[in-house]
Amino acid sequence: MRVWDGLSSNSRIFFDALTSEPPIAYMTENQNLSRALVTRLDDLSAITLFDKTSVADIRLGHPVPFPAKSPTSLDLSSYPHVTLSSNHTIAARLLVGADGLNSPVRSFAGIPTRGWDYDRHGVVATLKLSRGTGHSSENPQRVTAYQRFLPSGPIAFLALPGDYATLVWTTTPPQAMRLKALSAEDFVAMVNAAFRLDVVDLDYMFTLDSGQVGELEWRESVQSSKKADVDGEIPQRVASVQEGSVASFPLRLRHASTYTTNRVALIGDAAHTIHPLAGQGLNMGLADSRSLASAVEDAVRHGADIGNEIGCLDRYNGEMWMRNNRMLGAVDKLHWLYSAKSGPVVGLRGLGLRTVDALSPLKGWFMRQAGAS
Ligand SMILES: Cc1cc2nc3c(=O)[nH]c(=O)nc-3n(C[C@H](O)[C@H](O)[C@H](O)COP(=O)(O)OP(=O)(O)OC[C@H]3O[C@@H](n4cnc5c(N)ncnc54)[C@H](O)[C@@H]3O)c2cc1C
Repeated sequence: MRVWDGLSSNSRIFFDALTSEPPIAYMTENQNLSRALVTRLDDLSAITLFDKTSVADIRLGHPVPFPAKSPTSLDLSSYPHVTLSSNHTIAARLLVGADGLNSPVRSFAGIPTRGWDYDRHGVVATLKLSRGTGHSSENPQRVTAYQRFLPSGPIAFLALPGDYATLVWTTTPPQAMRLKALSAEDFVAMVNAAFRLDVVDLDYMFTLDSGQVGELEWRESVQSSKKADVDGEIPQRVASVQEGSVASFPLRLRHASTYTTNRVALIGDAAHTIHPLAGQGLNMGLADSRSLASAVEDAVRHGADIGNEIGCLDRYNGEMWMRNNRMLGAVDKLHWLYSAKSGPVVGLRGLGLRTVDALSPLKGWFMRQAGAS
């Protein structure tokens, strides 16, 4: 992975995952992960899947009148009762909220969040690359992730199999609107420009309603220090953008004050939403799932109630909350550090990048942290 600062071009860091054992990270498209998970769930006979159904309502069950109708009547009044749009109602011994930023499960449990909006949008797109110079194993550009920190936010380019790559471009809401309104050709020109031109050139191109293709050609032709595409320092040139793949999302930081209450556990973005600059959002959610599954497995093995905080859910909250809080804090500080446009911070962050790049053990530590969540 190559990372560099858009304001001080000699501030670079290169993480060489190809020589690290085991590899620090894999690029996996979300739809492939989802498909694999659904296939696995289909294989498990004890699981009932409700497809094309949403959760319409969650509330606690009614208390069983005393004396109970029969000695076997269970008091489910402490169980969340989930009503689906298909009119099924399920009483949950443990309700896991994996329902994203605006989690209805979190609202039901009355768990507050803290955080703020970044006033930035993440523009995503699937890119088709110009024909490369050989197979991916021979062409370093086809197996390298690139991230350039621009003053409005980082632009990240992540290689996918074949001649494809995915883009996450963090920028201001007006610039995100402008990018989405451009023709496909001008959008591609902006992406190529963002990795090749100086910030001042890029800022000018953002003021144009159209014509970015010609503007890029001209600016590259007169640029004094033309960046070579072939040395692997910058990503391969983008040829086109997949139709319908350009979208943008508002970026936020949110952290639930706790991940658990009685019979409820939150995981993933329902529990925490992070700036995408370090690509940790889904990773953190996967780590939550692993930790919760392990706590539940342990409770089952010892005959404990999986919905109880003490004896099951507390362990998950204890293991993940502080760890995720550290990651949220670190990524948030990186965002503010790289938002500075001038002054000593720009020089200091450049020095920081160069120092980490030169110190192999420190660089190794950063790589291990990125892959550990
Ligand atoms: C621009 C951008 C780029 C990102 N890039 C990366 C990256 O490179 N790497 C990475 O690890 N992470 C990345 N992330 C973060 C990642 O996308 C999220 O962390 C991840 O999608 C969270 O998964 P989740 O399942 O917890 O929540 P979500 O993906 O939000 O899923 C929640 C699900 O719950 C469903 N739901 C909600 N309410 C109901 C209801 N009432 N009934 C039924 N279903 C409901 C929703 O339909 C949705 O399917 C990025 C995020 C953004 C915005």
